[in-house]
Amino acid sequence: MRWLFRFGFVDLFVVVVAVVAVWSRTPVGALGQWGVAWVRGHDTSTTPSLLAFFRSEAPVAEWADQPIALPDTAIDVGDGLPEPYRSAVRHGLPDPLPAATLALVGEGTDTPADRLIAWLDEHWEGDPEGALERAAIGDELRQRAIERASATGVEDPERFANHRRFLSQQAERDAAALVDGVMGLSVVLDLRWPVDDDVRISSPFGYRIHPVLKTKKLHNGVDLPVPIGTPLHAAQSGEVIKAGEDSVSGKFVILQHAGGISTAYCHMSELFGKSAGDRVSKGETIGKSGNTGRSTGPHLHFILRLDGEAIDPAPYRRGGPR
Ligand SMILES: [Zn+2]
Repeated sequence: MRWLFRFGFVDLFVVVVAVVAVWSRTPVGALGQWGVAWVRGHDTSTTPSLLAFFRSEAPVAEWADQPIALPDTAIDVGDGLPEPYRSAVRHGLPDPLPAATLALVGEGTDTPADRLIAWLDEHWEGDPEGALERAAIGDELRQRAIERASATGVEDPERFANHRRFLSQQAERDAAALVDGVMGLSVVLDLRWPVDDDVRISSPFGYRIHPVLKTKKLHNGVDLPVPIGTPLHAAQSGEVIKAGEDSVSGKFVILQHAGGISTAYCHMSELFGKSAGDRVSKGETIGKSGNTGRSTGPHLHFILRLDGEAIDPAPYRRGGPR
């Protein structure tokens, strides 16, 4: 070990960084991690595979996501706020509430959610993100961020997504907790099922023995057995972030919606020329179902993701899971 003392701390630091980088970011490191997991008898399916480093991206229908529990979806119909937003506010408030929100809704005998809903009913004006952001951080901070964004040439600076990086770190965190939480929930509470509501789920979300690989994996979506050529509808309005084909998902479309929610449609037969950047409206036909990719029969593999993590879409079908 005497050789070690001939180096300074900076040298040692550089060596440590290099070793960590090789271990976590290169094929050699991936092989090492896989080997260690294998020797220790651990499940090697979650360690990065050597091949993964040579693919441009992981396949869409990846089987390794973790589910997130969302609140119950009891819908409380009222006037003012549209139904999904009203319900989302009730279920999706961050804890603790940002200071500006608490100051805004004040104290009372009813819940902060009720008081916030009453405030939003008055200040909604058809702009849910804007109203939620103002409730979280106040109008002044919001306006300043919009001005800064617009001075930098940001397009559509009024939108929270476009000016959020011009907020201070704390303000962005407070605003995001309310805007992303409520918008995300409202999107899933207002989901349109991609096929007819009465199509049964042939394979639910969750752990199961994979039909092709014969190993225990997380099924990261639901399987909806529909004949090849069945029109598939966008579950929500949003933007196409990817459309293409790979060996696992077959032909697929991924849509990005508000609040960090995305949906993916796999094993399709036709994509209707959809490509990244296209806007789609809720219910719009985005293509036709099929049996492409790693699939054992005609079906739609439908994935719902919150901030990139797969969650079970079944509770958000009108009428609940079947
Ligand atoms: Zn599936």
